Amino acid sequence: MNPNMDDEEIEVPLYQKRIPIYTRTVKGNFRNFKTAVLLLAYAVYFVLPWLPWARPSGAQQAIMFDLVSRRFFLFDLVVYPQDIFLLSLVLFIAGALLFFTTGLIGRAWCGYFCFQTLWTDAFMLIEHYIQGERPARIRLAKQPWNVEKVLKVGGARFLMLLLSFWTAFTFIAYFNHTSGFIERFFSGDVISTAYYGVLFLTISTFLAGALLREQVCIYMCPYARFQSVMYEADTLVPAYDAQRGEGTAGRIVAKSGVHTQEERKAKGHGDCIDCGYCVQVCPTGVDIRKGLQYQCISCGLCIDACNTIMDSLGWQRGLIRYDSEANLKKVPPAKPHLDFMRLKVLGYAGALAIMIGVLVYNFATRTEFEVRIAQVRQPLYVELSDGKIRNRYEIHLVNKQQVPTQFLIKTDGIPMEAVNFGANANPVTVQAGKDLKVPVKIDLDAATAKATKSFNFVIIPQSDPSDQEVRHESFDSPK
Ligand code: SF4
Ligand code: SF4
Repeated sequence: MNPNMDDEEIEVPLYQKRIPIYTRTVKGNFRNFKTAVLLLAYAVYFVLPWLPWARPSGAQQAIMFDLVSRRFFLFDLVVYPQDIFLLSLVLFIAGALLFFTTGLIGRAWCGYFCFQTLWTDAFMLIEHYIQGERPARIRLAKQPWNVEKVLKVGGARFLMLLLSFWTAFTFIAYFNHTSGFIERFFSGDVISTAYYGVLFLTISTFLAGALLREQVCIYMCPYARFQSVMYEADTLVPAYDAQRGEGTAGRIVAKSGVHTQEERKAKGHGDCIDCGYCVQVCPTGVDIRKGLQYQCISCGLCIDACNTIMDSLGWQRGLIRYDSEANLKKVPPAKPHLDFMRLKVLGYAGALAIMIGVLVYNFATRTEFEVRIAQVRQPLYVELSDGKIRNRYEIHLVNKQQVPTQFLIKTDGIPMEAVNFGANANPVTVQAGKDLKVPVKIDLDAATAKATKSFNFVIIPQSDPSDQEVRHESFDSPK
């Protein structure tokens, strides 16, 4: 102890030496739910880019992020760069949803849906399939390298690498036309960025899911650090009921004299038989009996494990359960329930509802084309040699339809003879999913120019003339 200090200070290292985790398998509702989410997520992720989707033009697959034509194809929806606001809104909604669920039921995203969780889970299943249950894997890790160890460790790593590669390859497929993509990729016929992308993603997936695993959740994921901001005493999280588990004399293994609940109660011991099953199934190596820890990803596997033990003893389930800190402090705790009526949760729900409303409104009122008109202001006008006054404009037409569309441009307040479309014909044809900038010159004689302060451009899409747009523009001339 440092004599200059009043209290003893314990130095806590910034990085704790990694303790290898060998998870034991477990059966139960949360495990079933996690497996169902894993299968569904994999089915969706690995199948979608290969799913054909008929469109009049553009990608012929259900999902494609076409960077070349700057269009995202999402089933029947085509998103253009002009829709960036809607995309940003979707991201904000995802963020608010994350905050909302975290405030309500903790890190549900981390435990069941996060990519790191899904891929780590899959890699653990591979490991379990090749190397066996927890004791066999511990034995394998401790034994010296021999043929068995090389085959089992190497075999598992090889399959993980294969899954990492296919994950990366599928990701890159989302950005490519997938018809013939496999052949083109393996015959060296796609752009080099695709190969670098696959290489980078294969390595990062393998590193994160096969080697680093819980270290990503504990040290690399920023969400683990700021999740506490969303937590409240009423947030439901996987929690150990210490009153029931410890009693007044603490937990104790089930042995002669403290075997039945009655015997244990009589001696002050709780229902936890200190079997350690809840710790052995934890993918992040947490002992939930020590209370809520930021390493806990709320996967619920410790609940399954403890319920299995309670079932085998014929005792009531729920020694570890989804419960809140506030409820567990009550003597005895009440039945856990979702508490929506909290300012923070209501705030997240309100923000979520507003953003979803704005998104739905924008999609509902989304037009098939866009028109933007800008007057060229340098110079504002030009005096021509014949005395006429010229103003210039740029009409930007965006065709969001899957077929080419013609736009008829008319004027209101200015004779059409004064309008010059240069090289473009009127009506103007804009190809499917493309945009076009049309330079327009308007020449008026001096008297008309002086009398004309403004006029209207009327843009009429020929596919649906009732959808016409009227834009008010000014006309400038010498004072
Ligand atoms: S403590 Fe329980 S809920 Fe938390 S990560 Fe471990 S097993 Fe999952
Ligand atoms: S699984 Fe249940 S009984 Fe076993 S150590 Fe964990 S809390 Fe105690």
